[in-house]
Amino acid sequence: MDWILFGPPGCGKGTQAERLSGGMNLYHFSTGEVLRENVKNGTELGQKADAIMKSGALVPDDVIIDMVSAKLSEDAVKATTGVLFDGFPRTIPQAEALESALTALGRELGGVLSLTVAEEELIDRLSKRGRADDTLDTIKNRLQVYEDQTAPLIGFYKERGQLFEVEGMGTMEEIEGRLREVIAKRQG
Ligand code: ADP
Repeated sequence: MDWILFGPPGCGKGTQAERLSGGMNLYHFSTGEVLRENVKNGTELGQKADAIMKSGALVPDDVIIDMVSAKLSEDAVKATTGVLFDGFPRTIPQAEALESALTALGRELGGVLSLTVAEEELIDRLSKRGRADDTLDTIKNRLQVYEDQTAPLIGFYKERGQLFEVEGMGTMEEIEGRLREVIAKRQG
């Protein structure tokens, strides 16, 4: 069973994805991490993505969708209980592409774990992180891009009965516990 960890930049998706995937034989797949690896290694994809990421905009859907399709066909992924998507999907076309890909591969989406965090807290966390794309202008742009292009996914998944809202404020242990509870209930 696959899961999507969802929420605005700075909500703690990456941190929680690491914690969850460890104990559960889930494959943690962060599109942002794969992109950063590509930038670091100077690949063609990395060269294309670098400036986009520094501005806080989204990398084009077709590029991301190709990346995800390639990942889903890897043996390492097939050997796990499921994939934990972190930072994907981020647009409606990405969500639609994922839905078709999972159906075609006979995979089941357990649900979307949506972490809710107050906006002041997000800005505070992001400005303390110190990543190359964490300057104040970029942070503001990323939050705006989230509102415009990514937040509509909440309705998309709610309509399908696949959205699970999880309070993203509290200690890392508390939040992890809440997420595990939702997964355990669905996975049985
Ligand atoms: P954050 O933790 O701040 O949400 P990520 O590591 O998920 O950041 O992503 C960093 C950047 O990589 C994004 O701002 C965007 O430019 C690019 N990116 C990552 N995932 C996607 C995606 N699914 N679609 C488009 N762009 C993406």
